Amino acid sequence: MNIKPEEITSIIKQEIEKYDKKIETVDSGTIIQIGDGIARVYGLNECMAGELLEFPNDVYAMAQNLEQDNVGCVLLGSEKGIKEGDIVKRTGRVVEVPVGENIIGRVVNSLGQPIDGKGPIKTTETKPVELVAPGVITRQSVKQPLQTGLKAIDSMIPIGKGQRELIIGDRQTGKTAIATDTIINQKGKDVICIYVAIGQKQSTVAHIVNNLTEMGAMDYTIVVSSTASEAAPLQFIAPYAGCTMGEYFMNKGKDVLIVYDDLSKHAVAYRAMSLLLHRPPGREAYPGDVFYVHSRLLERAAKLSDKLGGGSLTALPIIETQAGDVTAYIPTNVISITDGQIFLESELFYAGQRPAVNAGISVSRVGGSAQIKAMKQVAGSLRLDLAQYRELAAFAQFGSDLDKESKKRLEKGKRLMEILKQPQYKPVPVEKQVMILFAGVKEHLLDVPVEKIGEFENGFMEYMDTHHKEIGQEIVEKKALSDDLSKRLGDAIEEYKKIFLAEV
Ligand code: ATP
Ligand code: MG
Repeated sequence: MNIKPEEITSIIKQEIEKYDKKIETVDSGTIIQIGDGIARVYGLNECMAGELLEFPNDVYAMAQNLEQDNVGCVLLGSEKGIKEGDIVKRTGRVVEVPVGENIIGRVVNSLGQPIDGKGPIKTTETKPVELVAPGVITRQSVKQPLQTGLKAIDSMIPIGKGQRELIIGDRQTGKTAIATDTIINQKGKDVICIYVAIGQKQSTVAHIVNNLTEMGAMDYTIVVSSTASEAAPLQFIAPYAGCTMGEYFMNKGKDVLIVYDDLSKHAVAYRAMSLLLHRPPGREAYPGDVFYVHSRLLERAAKLSDKLGGGSLTALPIIETQAGDVTAYIPTNVISITDGQIFLESELFYAGQRPAVNAGISVSRVGGSAQIKAMKQVAGSLRLDLAQYRELAAFAQFGSDLDKESKKRLEKGKRLMEILKQPQYKPVPVEKQVMILFAGVKEHLLDVPVEKIGEFENGFMEYMDTHHKEIGQEIVEKKALSDDLSKRLGDAIEEYKKIFLAEV
């Protein structure tokens, strides 16, 4: 073959000239592989991480793996009718959900679309589901209480506005009940609540929505639901979507409470998605970034500084454990991210101690500073009393003789445990919690039979409402128990006790 040097140099020259020019269009690509809710798309060179991509049949997908020659994305809808070679368009936006006042009172899916059959939701604004959490400067410390209305929690594991408190326990231990009771207790307190259901049964979610509606709590609540039958990516974005809706209100200076029920199922959905995307599996086959998935979600809970309006987002994530094992991967992760945890135990639950809170190992690392003084005064020794009770109760099981002092402690503990029992949907306002705990802690109830404590409590509350309304009001106003107030409260308890004991 005869090689002409001029020809070669001209070709090289041509190539060099072309080198800088962009000729290809970058906002559409073709599907090279699709299946299991995952697609690989070729030709989307400028695609952003988390970008929304438009597939045929009005199906959208979220870009996840940005690889050298293709983009791995997860479909946010059905892959039916979509095939290899189809065209995919970029939208230039990351995944967003509508935000606004009109979503309150509605049940929506992960994309913010209504699923309660009450017609479309009018919103004007949308916000990305993944937003960066507020930084250090924009925050202030947690200082206002968020009352759950549950005696066992408000007294010993207080939650503050802007805190992240984990609710953890085996299946059927009343985790959801604590979260929904807390939502119900926010009635009339100007707190917007968001309940995010991840990977639950449709029937369970319907049941919760019914209960919230019945208790009048849907007036200030948004339910974001991604049930078990939905694709893993939809379950994955549900909590972020709920959080974005909540942040909208927080940034307007409002207080928001958000429940993620539950993050174990969220982690499972993320694992499914990641494995299908061929990301390498780590411990328990979860991808390596599952910690980051939860931390970046929970870090969005905040109490904003006064300069930014002082709004707050309080998060109550829920984790389901297997046989009480809190050392599994996901539970340990979320425990380390949150500001404390409420441990629920099956044993307590079956023994009738409901809510089944194990006060010994439950903690709240920041909420204490948000508790009102009166509650601190009565609950100060409650933990210790209960710890001593548990120890003595274990000891007393052997039928051993106890000295008088120990017997008294045992009896007191039994009554305190009774006081901490509380039925579902019956939140107790903080002043009433203080009054009944006062009765227990100050040993006013030692002569009331243990099995009558519940009855006593109900009667006592009624009695206080009719005869000593001023004591409750004073606790609300002054937020502390002065010597004089303590004395009057003690006298009122003794007064009612006489009436009660005469009746039984
Ligand atoms: P799952 O693991 O299925 O999500 P869970 O831990 O969320 O369960 P719940 O559904 O809240 O538990 O409660 C389980 C059952 O216990 C429900 O039937 C609920 O009504 C009942 N229950 C919960 N709390 C109480 C309570 N304080 N008093 C009486 N019953 C309760
Ligand atoms: Mg539940």
